[in-house]
Amino acid sequence: MIVFDLCCAAGDHRFEAWFASSDSFSDQQARGLIACPVCGDSEVRKAVMAPRIGAKANQLVVQAPTSPDQPAAAGDISPELVRRVVAEIAAKQAEMLPQSRWVGRDFAAAARAMHEGRAPDDLIHGQASPQEAQALRDDGIAAMPLLVPIVPPDAVN
Ligand SMILES: [Zn+2]
Repeated sequence: MIVFDLCCAAGDHRFEAWFASSDSFSDQQARGLIACPVCGDSEVRKAVMAPRIGAKANQLVVQAPTSPDQPAAAGDISPELVRRVVAEIAAKQAEMLPQSRWVGRDFAAAARAMHEGRAPDDLIHGQASPQEAQALRDDGIAAMPLLVPIVPPDAVN
């Protein structure tokens, strides 16, 4: 028995099919006996295999050694990785918050003042409208959304 990766002409659907031999495949293909399982098209051909040459050379080593719970390759962004990164950022923010100064609605102005050197560097958190946040990003000012729930001091009475 031999397995071929096939694809149909109509929809380029890829599927595997088993044949007694390579000749058997050619015979069935010629007689239109092989049908695409997706669309039923009987015009099928062997699928072009992805080129493997250079695959090793293209691998980038970003972290060594790689432990099992780290992503295997650069660009491999799994939902678990996103969750972990978000959790790490949230934990870092929770650590930073006690040292951070609440500036409330003045956040955008305060962040801009620090960025432009008009105010000493400080760790601040506060509120910004989506427009203000976008304007900060446009100006290259690093402001991150807070991932940990906080109670604005002026809301506590
Ligand atoms: Zn098909």
